[in-house]
Amino acid sequence: MPLGSEEELKEDICKTMRRLFDRGLISALGGNVSARLPGASEFWITPSGVFKGELTADDLIKADLESRVTEGFLRPSVETPFHAIIYKKRSDVNAVIHSHNPIATGLALAGIQIQPVTVEAAVVLRRVQVVPWAFPGTDALADLVGKHIEGARALILMNHGVIGVGSNLLEAEAIVETLEEVATAQLVAYLFKKELPLIPEKDMELIKRLYKV
Ligand SMILES: [Zn+2]
Repeated sequence: MPLGSEEELKEDICKTMRRLFDRGLISALGGNVSARLPGASEFWITPSGVFKGELTADDLIKADLESRVTEGFLRPSVETPFHAIIYKKRSDVNAVIHSHNPIATGLALAGIQIQPVTVEAAVVLRRVQVVPWAFPGTDALADLVGKHIEGARALILMNHGVIGVGSNLLEAEAIVETLEEVATAQLVAYLFKKELPLIPEKDMELIKRLYKV
């Protein structure tokens, strides 16, 4: 690992937050991002109660896998417990994004499942499960996330938002963005049709073979 990579990681978390804010996937106070150096037992996470569009590296907090703060001055995100549980359960995950995607969250409220309507949806998202409602920031929510995260890349939190995970920040960012893109395409389709034209079965088989999904 090159020297200073922890500082780069913190810069990347702030840049990711700004891009998500600019895209309307997180709001002034809603949404959080965390990342760790590959396999580390501590992770950096965004603070609670601070404007999300202009975070700097000094605003971030370091926490361990039991959600205990080990560095930083601000209060960590209230969702630190589910970030911690994801890192604990998934050694392949080094970045977690929780955003408030309006359309993906809306489809879940309407009881509509995210479907593999594009190749990206099939390859990047795989199967998107909906986590039942639990109050934000509680251990109950963290436990539910922990139960659903196995093998998942994206989850939708009922009445709340979404989670995307990846082996690095870029992957996690691509997941929450693709989720919103696919949800939007589905929403547009449902405005005009009741049944979605899905990718033909033989091409889905090809996608599965090519991308090993
Ligand atoms: Zn939230």
